[in-house]
Amino acid sequence: MAAALAARAAGVRDVLLLERDQHLGGILNQCIHPGFGLHHFKEELTGPEYADRFVRQVAEDPGIEVSLRSFVVKLTKDRELSFLRPGALEEVKARAVILATGCRERTREMIAIPGSRPAGVYPAGLAQKMVNMEGWIPGREAVIVGSGDIGLIMARRMALEGVKVRAVVEIQKTSRGLVRNVVQCLEDYGIPLHFQHRISRIHGRDRVEKVSVVKVDDDFKDIPASGFELPCDTVLVSVGLIPENELLEMAGAEMDRKTNGPVSDEVNLTSLPGIFACGNAFKVYDLADSVTRDSELAGRAAARYLEGK
Ligand SMILES: Cc1cc2nc3c(=O)[nH]c(=O)nc-3n(C[C@H](O)[C@H](O)[C@H](O)COP(=O)(O)OP(=O)(O)OC[C@H]3O[C@@H](n4cnc5c(N)ncnc54)[C@H](O)[C@@H]3O)c2cc1C
Repeated sequence: MAAALAARAAGVRDVLLLERDQHLGGILNQCIHPGFGLHHFKEELTGPEYADRFVRQVAEDPGIEVSLRSFVVKLTKDRELSFLRPGALEEVKARAVILATGCRERTREMIAIPGSRPAGVYPAGLAQKMVNMEGWIPGREAVIVGSGDIGLIMARRMALEGVKVRAVVEIQKTSRGLVRNVVQCLEDYGIPLHFQHRISRIHGRDRVEKVSVVKVDDDFKDIPASGFELPCDTVLVSVGLIPENELLEMAGAEMDRKTNGPVSDEVNLTSLPGIFACGNAFKVYDLADSVTRDSELAGRAAARYLEGK
């Protein structure tokens, strides 16, 4: 939305905004905690409130056509797009394309936590969506893997929903999350944070029953006799995000295999002329406000491209 509005402000006449979900706003809709907008709006908003500010501006702009439940399934280097919407496969050729497709979460399999494969292991962002948008509680006693902001915020959310949060387990020496989140989400709720620890096994047949935790040294090797167990029925895995860039890859853009972002010297650019990437699709951002700032640049860059500059 920020890119679309900035493109319009820079003189682009006709913008089509395609969104696969049934509402605009992306991940912001499930982030019902405050902490958004401090930079961009100089006030503290929740995620849905932050999104709503943009939804209103987009709705008022006659040059932006929004198409919801529209899943883009194909993109070519010549900027031809195919998207599925209920009952139809549409094709459109754009003069410039901005990809703002966000991230997906790394999963248990990607960090290879050993053990059985019972129910009760969720990516933390998925659990956030379940709790905040659907009203489902994933379990009663939880252990969180990873102390980035999503893990910290989910620890607090689970505690607020009456779930017993046994601990947050972090393999590194420090948290990647904001200090304010460590204090407000864990310390204020008495939730233990174990640095330099990892889950060495998930136990349980049909449902998670407990996890084994072990301390690791500076080389991430297990320290003998340091292990302990935590009973729980739920494990939330919050171990990083991966830019969602299948469309960009399909179009033939040069990709960085390590980050899954486009190879680029400059923010928002890809190796394909007229195709831009912004927000979490370009690189993983910590703050939505920074996504907005840089996505506005993408909108302006697309406008300049259309002017032939
Ligand atoms: C689980 C999670 C929690 C977060 N919590 C916070 C937080 O508390 N505070 C904070 O400041 N930041 C948080 N972030 C950081 C995040 O970077 C920003 O909040 C920001 O909102 C990301 O914006 P985005 O537009 O890049 O991506 P998203 O919000 O992910 O938006 C991408 C959109 O693209 C759509 N899409 C993807 N592929 C297609 C396709 N093929 N066709 C059509 N539509 C498609 C998706 O449906 C989605 O609506 C969180 C991120 C995640 C993943």
